[in-house]
Amino acid sequence: MMVDAQGFEAHSRYARNLLLKEVGEEGQVRLLKSSAFVVGAGGLGSVVLPYLASAGVGRIGLADNDAVEASNLNRQILYRGTDLGKRKATSASASLQALNPDCEVLAIDERIVAANIKKHLSGYGVVIDCSDNFATKFLVSDYCWSAKIPLVTAGVVAFSGQVMAVLQGEGNPCYRCLLPDEPPPGSTPESAAEGILGAAAGVLGSIQAIEAIKILLGIGSTLARRLLTYDGLKAEFRTFERTPNPDCPLCGTPPKLTKLG
Ligand SMILES: [Zn+2]
Repeated sequence: MMVDAQGFEAHSRYARNLLLKEVGEEGQVRLLKSSAFVVGAGGLGSVVLPYLASAGVGRIGLADNDAVEASNLNRQILYRGTDLGKRKATSASASLQALNPDCEVLAIDERIVAANIKKHLSGYGVVIDCSDNFATKFLVSDYCWSAKIPLVTAGVVAFSGQVMAVLQGEGNPCYRCLLPDEPPPGSTPESAAEGILGAAAGVLGSIQAIEAIKILLGIGSTLARRLLTYDGLKAEFRTFERTPNPDCPLCGTPPKLTKLG
């Protein structure tokens, strides 16, 4: 890392990262050269995005096609009351640029769908799924698996949530090894119906950001073979081992699904 006048500021900005022996100068340079794409700038994305930007992830893509509503503000802490009615992509981009001008932010005011997923997500070093619906989660996880892009995916409702990483690798399960198919609508709790405590999204989003940074740096043990759950009411974390499912429709032999990408 250069230490001229600009470099000195950069050195100060990342001083607490540089002190971490797992990061250091080499890791910080690696982060500044890395890229991450965040699908959804809602409750989880509101936490993941500023942590990635403040850590110095050099290129951050995000996609969200909603506007900021008053009912978002109990958890979507990337936005202010003054942002009501603004496009989330525009508002999030401005906020992240103000937080860290070192980051190149590419904000897309679109929903990620089969027709645009390759165009928007290809080439990123990690994808963080912060969407709130299974259709998007399955689409993103299938694409990332096929394109060999590491994925960190989470869900949160009420006081609880779960998070896992999905990485191609010997002995690593895919998303569909755990959930072979999309659950029927209405069969799983949704925050729109059940409510959600903002701080619970904060816990899960923070863990997603840590996992993404670990993956970009190649440090620590990721959640590639585990599911981590959090129950805020009980104040309990639990981890469950995940193993490849030989009958998995995506990564089993032979695969039953036509791969994307
Ligand atoms: Zn699988």
